[in-house]
Amino acid sequence: MEVKVLKFGGSSLADALHFGRVADIVKAEESRRYVVPSAPGKRFKEDDKVTDLLYQCYDLSKRGESIDAVFSRIKARYNDIIRDLDLDFSLEDEFAKIYSAIQHLPGRDYVASRGEYLSGLVLANYLGFDFIDAANVIFFKENGTFDSERTNVVLNAILKQHSHAVVPGFYGSMPNGTIKTFSRGGSDITGSIVARAAGADLYENWTDVSGFLKADPRCVDNPKPIKEITYKELRELSYMGATVLHEDAIFPVRFAGIPINIRNTNAPEDPGTMIVSSATYHDGDDVITGVAGKVGFSILNIEKDMMNSEIGFGRRVLEALENNGISFEHLPSGIDTMSVVISTKDLEGKRDKIINDVCRLVEPEFISIEDGLALVAVVGRGMVSNKGTASRVFSACAAASVNIKMIDQGSSELNIIIGVSEDDYIPALRAIYNEFVK
Ligand code: ASP
Repeated sequence: MEVKVLKFGGSSLADALHFGRVADIVKAEESRRYVVPSAPGKRFKEDDKVTDLLYQCYDLSKRGESIDAVFSRIKARYNDIIRDLDLDFSLEDEFAKIYSAIQHLPGRDYVASRGEYLSGLVLANYLGFDFIDAANVIFFKENGTFDSERTNVVLNAILKQHSHAVVPGFYGSMPNGTIKTFSRGGSDITGSIVARAAGADLYENWTDVSGFLKADPRCVDNPKPIKEITYKELRELSYMGATVLHEDAIFPVRFAGIPINIRNTNAPEDPGTMIVSSATYHDGDDVITGVAGKVGFSILNIEKDMMNSEIGFGRRVLEALENNGISFEHLPSGIDTMSVVISTKDLEGKRDKIINDVCRLVEPEFISIEDGLALVAVVGRGMVSNKGTASRVFSACAAASVNIKMIDQGSSELNIIIGVSEDDYIPALRAIYNEFVK
């Protein structure tokens, strides 16, 4: 029988109305058997996420201050949901346990994880599903990294004993039994881990948008949704800041070849975005899957005659960066010039030292650091099979009076990255989007 694992984000579980929508979605298909909830998120713009309130409780307790006011708000969030759903169920014992634990400073991660834990208890009760505490099935190693193999074996065996279950997101346990969380937004990772262990056919990630868009809606008006994207394309776009899914959530399902479907709890009829391991480009598809970018980069320019025949030149430049703890983003070079694109904030407090180190190691004739660069990534599996894509990118930029300062194309032909001045960032995004998508 087909198995689907569903993860619901905080905005999908913010109040009883949303819990109702979640239940309708889960019950609509018999294959929707395992559910991973987040903690209740914001109900309106100025509202607080339960996870943030829990972090506040931890901080207050650490400073020896009373947690009562904030803890009451957390209790009220769950009690309102329980009341509005008309459940014959109480969390009072759990609240008492957590309240007393926080007084004894049990660890920041334990406190933060209670949002998902309580959410899971309410949802399991409402759906009539079993509750599996993530502490018993999701494991971290002594060094704090996720223990994927132990988790997969144990979780797989436990899921076999439950035809329908709720597993709270975001946390697991350390070898000594203490609770540890993933980084923020980590319920996405739990969903992916559960999908792998369940041998699921599909991992549905339900959120408050209908999938990924072809461009950032803050820069381009009404961008079209992406119907299908490969894991590799998604990595390129997420790196540039297109965030809907936690970036570590891809690995467990990718390993098992399970597709992810990003869906909208508030518009369940929308098909959302399918993330798949491989997809072919079809005639009629857009040549590019998406265009994304980021501001805040600098270029380190180095010039030296005969640089191209000086063995070890590039290594020594990179050594200077490595010694200053800096990673580079791109490395476009010419015959007698080499440029290194670096995130501007990484240079803070280190500029003079880097320039001195490079001068000492390679004795350049000219060296400078230029700030104010934006990178724009044009991503698409369709680029391999369509000639002239680069020329269309450049013509579109030229027509919009955008000067291109740097070009980089990966050998996979999955992306073309251009560097433009930050002032040209939005005009470049719009020009490229309109050229390929409109
Ligand atoms: N509740 C956690 C957070 O706010 C984890 C999650 O929602 O995925 O980051």
